Amino acid sequence: MNIDIQPEDQAIFDRLKSTGRMTAGLRRKITQQHNWCSCCDKMIFPYRPAFAGYDADDKPVLACAKCAVTRVTELATPVYPKMNLDISLPDETVLWRYMDFSKFVAMLMQRGLYLPRASNMEDKFEGAAGLARREHVWDEHYLKRYREVVSGPGPDGRPINISPEDIECEARRLLRSTKAATVASRSRPISCWHANAGESEAQWRLYCPPQTMGIAVKSSVDRLWNAMSGEQNAVVGRVHYLDFNTAFAVTGRERIFCKRASLAHEREVRAVILEDDGHEDTPGRLVGCDLAALIDVVVLSPFAPEWFQWVLSDVISKFGWSIPVVKSDLLDPPFY
Ligand SMILES: [Zn+2]
Repeated sequence: MNIDIQPEDQAIFDRLKSTGRMTAGLRRKITQQHNWCSCCDKMIFPYRPAFAGYDADDKPVLACAKCAVTRVTELATPVYPKMNLDISLPDETVLWRYMDFSKFVAMLMQRGLYLPRASNMEDKFEGAAGLARREHVWDEHYLKRYREVVSGPGPDGRPINISPEDIECEARRLLRSTKAATVASRSRPISCWHANAGESEAQWRLYCPPQTMGIAVKSSVDRLWNAMSGEQNAVVGRVHYLDFNTAFAVTGRERIFCKRASLAHEREVRAVILEDDGHEDTPGRLVGCDLAALIDVVVLSPFAPEWFQWVLSDVISKFGWSIPVVKSDLLDPPFY
């Protein structure tokens, strides 16, 4: 990975030392801007650093070197956008969560979103690097890189005196630690959403089949980010669907945003708590939030009886929330 530090980048590093202060607002700015400067709206050059920090009013910024000169007064951390998977998506993207009535009642009662851990989900490929039958290809790719790193010239440019056995041993140790770091992504707490401008009959049938009492909550990317704003390490991002016959999931923290191509119909957007140290033994995490701000409307399943709307509205207000309930668009009659 070649990082390209130009003199104008070095000037920023000389002026500002990284403070490492990461707020939820800055995390959102870094994710949503990806490789675009939030000040001049131009793309940040590949492998050049972007400067993530705060302006004089303590507002989060992700700046190119040129803008960082005047706009960044506190540097939190440099970021190298080209190395990250782009999970950004427009704030106005409409999101849905289809669920049965009991899950919705739990949400009202708990006054927030419950995020189960990836390892507790049905999909065995959560956090996976790829197909087991292709593991040797992945291993060999990284071993080759690590052997080069281990045997390459030292920091002073001189060749390193190391035996072939030690090179192999060290490369294999690095491979094991890479795998251990990414396996940790399976313990991330996740809230899964479906991105779609309108309702999906397929989602209704999947999550709220006929004879069940189902609802869908309608929200947006902006509302979901706001709901997660109390969690410094939370990100909202779109899932990438990969053909594991030819591709592998990324190794970084965005690993948890990679799924199999066979699930592409889910059009998933997820909120993930990226670092959750010390809580891994719990089955999930509850993130408290203002549900009335998170939820735009609650849509009644097209398969539920009409009287259910009255029950639903009553239950919502009994828990002290004011959230509108509407009928499904799918019930609109046709004409011939
Ligand atoms: Zn700029």
